[in-house]
Amino acid sequence: MPVRPHVVIVGSGFGGLNAALRLASAPVDVTVVDRDNYHGFWPLLYQVATAGLGSDDIARPIRAVYSDHPNISARMGTVTGVDMDHRSIELDHEATIGYDFLILAAGSSTTDFGIPGVAEHAFPLKTLPDAVRLRNHVLSTFERADADDPSTADPGQLTIVLVGGGPTGVEMAGALSELIGHNLAGDFHHLDLTKARVLLVEKDDHLLPGFAPKSQEWALGALRSKGVEVRFGTKLDKVTDDGVSFEDGTSVASRTVVWTAGVRANPLADLVNAAKGRAGTLRVGPDLSLGGHPEVFVIGDLAAIGGRDGDQLPQLAQVAIQSGRRAASNIKRTLEGKQTKKFRYSNHGIMATIGRRSAVAELPGGVRFQGTPGWMAWLGVHLIFLIGFRNRVVVLVNWAWNYLTWDRATRVILDDGSITPTGQPRV
Ligand SMILES: Cc1cc2nc3c(=O)[nH]c(=O)nc-3n(C[C@H](O)[C@H](O)[C@H](O)COP(=O)(O)OP(=O)(O)OC[C@H]3O[C@@H](n4cnc5c(N)ncnc54)[C@H](O)[C@@H]3O)c2cc1C
Repeated sequence: MPVRPHVVIVGSGFGGLNAALRLASAPVDVTVVDRDNYHGFWPLLYQVATAGLGSDDIARPIRAVYSDHPNISARMGTVTGVDMDHRSIELDHEATIGYDFLILAAGSSTTDFGIPGVAEHAFPLKTLPDAVRLRNHVLSTFERADADDPSTADPGQLTIVLVGGGPTGVEMAGALSELIGHNLAGDFHHLDLTKARVLLVEKDDHLLPGFAPKSQEWALGALRSKGVEVRFGTKLDKVTDDGVSFEDGTSVASRTVVWTAGVRANPLADLVNAAKGRAGTLRVGPDLSLGGHPEVFVIGDLAAIGGRDGDQLPQLAQVAIQSGRRAASNIKRTLEGKQTKKFRYSNHGIMATIGRRSAVAELPGGVRFQGTPGWMAWLGVHLIFLIGFRNRVVVLVNWAWNYLTWDRATRVILDDGSITPTGQPRV
């Protein structure tokens, strides 16, 4: 049998998965390498962190996604090197995989902008373990506060500080206020939860960058009506074990600081010798290939892709999905001896939810929804794009249950054994 071209895809997130599926019936063999054995649906990560969904509700085993496609194999491993001269990638367990075509789709990671204490004391929200760790921590601090003598209570125990007023900060703030007000208030009879605070701090003078001012104002009003405190023009100076201090000289005692502010390209980009775009991303040509390497494509959050106005496209799921499909189609065209095509991003809109029956959605053509219609649009879009029929059913049932009862059902502390429900180390 003739040897078929080998396409290697690094990362099975939104971009990598859609690239692989586009190659499912092509005359190529595809190997998808991912450090995890699951595809994660990050737009619902905050719901795992706030006990609305379980971690496996928003994850799908990668091998299950490709099981019906004999030409696609999955491989679990972290890619630690890319050798474009010899057309191979290196994995952490010292394996090497050769390729004819390579698609780099390793996404983005968190950056602390060098602010002291963020890496040590703040909670990031980028991966499933991050979300579970944050949920454990929030629930554990409330358990600890309940066990403490009120006269000597730690002032930061019931204060949650969220840094960054983008969609993740806004969604977390809304969901935490509902978790505290509707669930923990019922769970902890002896704790005075009027003392619990959710504080969202943003360095600019508005929330939700990229949204229209009307949507930003609406989201601000909705958060404040839920009791969330929002502070603008507030730059973080440092984070410590017991709180945060700001550049204006003020400070807040808090045992829970959530860092949603900084995103940069996955460190894999640093290993590739190529021109860089914003936040360490890899600059690609109009057909998404790397300069001088027509066999290497970069997509999604890892890529600096120029939009119609020349600006770099934002790190969004739709950009990753569409660029993944375009890169795969360009590989097929190359094999057919045709010219590759330019990537053209089609904007499907942006949305963010603040809580129950409360969201902002902006669709192309200036169509905007707020409140319940925005929330319905948000629910529908997230269900459609969630991977796997089982996950859709489970998430739908969870949402319906939550809607009818206000119950955020996964209020379980699933730690690694290092803390007890009262926050003390296990012996
Ligand atoms: C909390 C959160 C909320 C978000 N909400 C929204 C939203 O509401 N709407 C929206 O449009 N976008 C949202 N985004 C952004 C969106 O998720 C990303 O733009 C999208 O996931 C980018 O797709 P990608 O394929 O480039 O990367 P990812 O989907 O992140 O996939 C990258 C994959 O690469 C793997 N990987 C990483 N490094 C390596 C390595 N060295 N070796 C092997 N595998 C590796 C990872 O395990 C992962 O599976 C959100 C992101 C986060 C974190």
